[in-house]
Amino acid sequence: MRITFLGATDTVTGSRFLVESDSGRLLVDCGLFQGLKKLRLRNRERFPVDPAALHGIVLTHAHLDHSGYFPLLYRNGFAGRAWCTPATLALCGILLPDSGYLQEEEAAYANKEGFSRHSPARPLYTQRDAEESLAALHGVPFAQEFHPAPSFSARFGQAGHILGAAWVWLSDGKRSVVFSGDVGRPNDPVMNVPEPIPPADCLVVESTYGDRRHAATDPADTLADIIDATAARGGTILIPSFAVGRAQVLLHLLAGLVRARRIPRLPVYLDSPMAINATELFIGHHALHRLSAEDCRRMGALATYTRTAAESKAAMNRRGPKIIISASGMATGGRVLHHLKRCLPDPSSSIVFVGYQAAGTRGAALLAGAESIKIHGEYHRVRAHVEHIDGLSAHADAAELIDWLKQAEQAPKRTYIVHGEPSAQDALRRRLRDELGWEARIPEYRGTEELP
Ligand SMILES: [Zn+2]
Repeated sequence: MRITFLGATDTVTGSRFLVESDSGRLLVDCGLFQGLKKLRLRNRERFPVDPAALHGIVLTHAHLDHSGYFPLLYRNGFAGRAWCTPATLALCGILLPDSGYLQEEEAAYANKEGFSRHSPARPLYTQRDAEESLAALHGVPFAQEFHPAPSFSARFGQAGHILGAAWVWLSDGKRSVVFSGDVGRPNDPVMNVPEPIPPADCLVVESTYGDRRHAATDPADTLADIIDATAARGGTILIPSFAVGRAQVLLHLLAGLVRARRIPRLPVYLDSPMAINATELFIGHHALHRLSAEDCRRMGALATYTRTAAESKAAMNRRGPKIIISASGMATGGRVLHHLKRCLPDPSSSIVFVGYQAAGTRGAALLAGAESIKIHGEYHRVRAHVEHIDGLSAHADAAELIDWLKQAEQAPKRTYIVHGEPSAQDALRRRLRDELGWEARIPEYRGTEELP
């Protein structure tokens, strides 16, 4: 068996791993490169394998950096099945068409402004392409064996990262490998504990926080303090949030704070159609997270769901303190931009970031103390409080990753470290060597490795 690393080698996006044996060829994850332009251009490069020559694709979870390239491979001739858990399938049904829609919008904007080097600019794929590709997705429950390519057997285990997220064990009958996907945390407020990995010859493991430790403070305490202070000033608490995962954690934490009477009972709006759909899916999948039916009921009853633009506007126009959760999480687009225009100049309001803010985004600029922010072509003065809550990450930190790997019944013969910035990858490589005695390597972009 051999693996060719087609993405996520020196960065946290673009997860794509080609796995080949003498008789079968498949892809594990099929993600978009995101962030810096240099990386995004890789999405436009010719894919090194003819999609029609792939027997199957396995998706570890629905985040676009793991699934968002799939509609393009499907349009370009992939004719097999894409295997994932049923919850991942359902989430892909929300995320992939939205991704196509955003690609179309971006291309249309580039054409209007005339800044595209390709004239006319074309979307990577359209909403329609994405909708059509969903027919090739095939859901398999955790722990059930499936056969994604000739001679290959596989099964999913719970990775605890977001709803439906899995690690996958793969074998061609001679060698076996586990791909970790993205790994969650042992004490996540809503997700189940990641299951230990089964015995395998090799491991391919993520390293997003390979050189960091999450803050030890309880994020609910920080959130309560910010809400109290902002409500006392009569301002709005605006929380830019990722629609899948983070928005559901926030609703759960807020419901707990209201119940414990630690914050005043303010109107709460979930203002993102995608986050609303993801929340409904989350509530419908009891076995896949740790919340009880009662927790889910409270979470669902807490917020007003604003689906239309008119409802969104009405939420912002409501007088007095209120909490608005809206996407996107790094304020790169979406409805949250309209809310930001209103909140930024208001010294009584708070803008609360709850996740990693990538370089170059409005979120990163605000956290760095920018005095003004450009939205829709105009600059807006920043007079609102800008806050950041650490500790809500859906990724294990370095110590949590090591603890999780320690539970493996058997050490892999070799480990490949992917899905991290170079410093994080190297830090995790050293810890695996020093603390577990595991031999770990950092693969090169497009490099091929024969499994021992
Ligand atoms: Zn992820």
